[in-house]
Amino acid sequence: MSDPKFPTPEELQKKLTEFMKSQFGNQVQLTSFIQPETSESDPEGEETPAAKTDVFEFNHLPRDIKAHLDRFVIKQDEAKKVLSIAVCDHYNAVKYFAGDDGSAKSAEYAKQNVILIGPTGVGKTYLIKHIADLVGVPFVKADATKFSETGYVGGDVEDLVRDLVHKAEGDVSLAQYGIIYIDEIDKIASSSGGQGRDVSGRGVQTTLLKLMEETEVPLRNPMDIQSQIQAALELQKGSKSRRETINTRHILFIVSGAFEKMRPLIEKRVRNSQIGFSSHGEAVPDSELFALASTRDFIEFGLEPEFIGRLPVRVVCQDLVVDDFFEIMKRSEGSIIRQYERAFRAFGIEVFFEEEALHLIAGLAAEEKTGARGLLTVCEKILRDFKYELPGSGVTHFAVDRALIEQSAETLKALLTAGGREKAREMGDIAREFVRRFAEKNGGHIELSEGAVAKLIARAEREGTPMRDLCARLFKDYEFGLKLLGKNDEVIVLSEEAIDDLDKFLSEWLVKTYRGLPR
Ligand code: ADP
Repeated sequence: MSDPKFPTPEELQKKLTEFMKSQFGNQVQLTSFIQPETSESDPEGEETPAAKTDVFEFNHLPRDIKAHLDRFVIKQDEAKKVLSIAVCDHYNAVKYFAGDDGSAKSAEYAKQNVILIGPTGVGKTYLIKHIADLVGVPFVKADATKFSETGYVGGDVEDLVRDLVHKAEGDVSLAQYGIIYIDEIDKIASSSGGQGRDVSGRGVQTTLLKLMEETEVPLRNPMDIQSQIQAALELQKGSKSRRETINTRHILFIVSGAFEKMRPLIEKRVRNSQIGFSSHGEAVPDSELFALASTRDFIEFGLEPEFIGRLPVRVVCQDLVVDDFFEIMKRSEGSIIRQYERAFRAFGIEVFFEEEALHLIAGLAAEEKTGARGLLTVCEKILRDFKYELPGSGVTHFAVDRALIEQSAETLKALLTAGGREKAREMGDIAREFVRRFAEKNGGHIELSEGAVAKLIARAEREGTPMRDLCARLFKDYEFGLKLLGKNDEVIVLSEEAIDDLDKFLSEWLVKTYRGLPR
């Protein structure tokens, strides 16, 4: 018996949809996997247009990279230097080996993968992101803890590589020069060091190791049925257009962690070695201590020797202190203060941060113990109500000063009151100006009494209508009437009641005028 005929894509989609419905009812939907024919199905079987970056451009000097980082990242000078060198070495090697099949020359090259040590919120991710921006390569970040949780380590780790392709908008050639950054690497130390999670940690390290060395990662996740069906269909159509895998040879891997529990191991070893800080037993600052970390410490801590061996560049990021937070707000181009200024400016409000306030915010952020992330927490807490209440309140500018930080509710109330007065004044001016022009155009003389202005303001506020629109609507039908009245050369003063019923007011005025009665 011959094999049954392979269904067309449409038939297959129909059958699968019916199957899903019969199994799961209507809660489950199969999104269409039939893609319109595109120029990607290249009959020559050549690579897709995605492969357009085969020659990799890299012309930076370490000092250029550091200068770029200096614009955004405060402190961390040593880390900036070491990273700048590692990145130059890596991409220069990539350039040198471009086109090499991976065997001869590049076998001699040890990739400059990096391990970054430092607490949370001190700029580790920020450094890497700005390096990737400058070099022009895609960048993905993940937490190592995520891998061991799902039980499907390999797929998750490989997903990172696929994410690079995604970030590069499908440009596989560019993605293969990307940067993968994995945080919380200290959480996957294996049990041999007695610190970490146990065997699963070792499993993640082994999987990562393979990627860091060199491997081909399928562009489609083998566990994703839909993309597998798609691949089968393409194969059936005889299209060889898509590149199937991405090679990880040129991907730069950077891992990081706080390695808090490695501290005693280093301290012990350093003390035993009787050099440096040994005899005094004083606490050594983390940054100095971690700079002394040796391969042995990492292994004792629970990293596999092969794994740490693949991370030849070690960088320590410093803890940030109150003054650094102040500098970050004042000097970093990515400062959160600029973000707040922009956010308020979008509503026509200028905000000024006084130096004293920046010092206070820096102090409060330090108490959060989350590094520079504390700045965002503190600023949000202080300014959230201002962000909500001030837009549309008539307030056009305000200062963040000590009073605002220490008595924020009272300061906001005072601003809103002043803003309300300011707004009312502006609305009154608009109403008066409207009436002046209206009268001028129609040959009459009208003025608004103070009561009429107040009434108009109240009404515009109540209806949420701009003053100009409200006036235009009220006066729309009275051009003719005004022309009649205007002949009289007398100033018509609109009272408060006139605003409620302009029709009545003007007719009475007209009658009285023609009868020569007092008004
Ligand atoms: P982590 O060290 O945990 O990776 P991040 O780099 O994600 O911390 O820092 C969080 C945010 O804090 C950054 O987006 C940046 O705005 C700010 N930040 C952290 N460290 C610095 C620094 N040294 N200089 C300037 N901004 C920083």
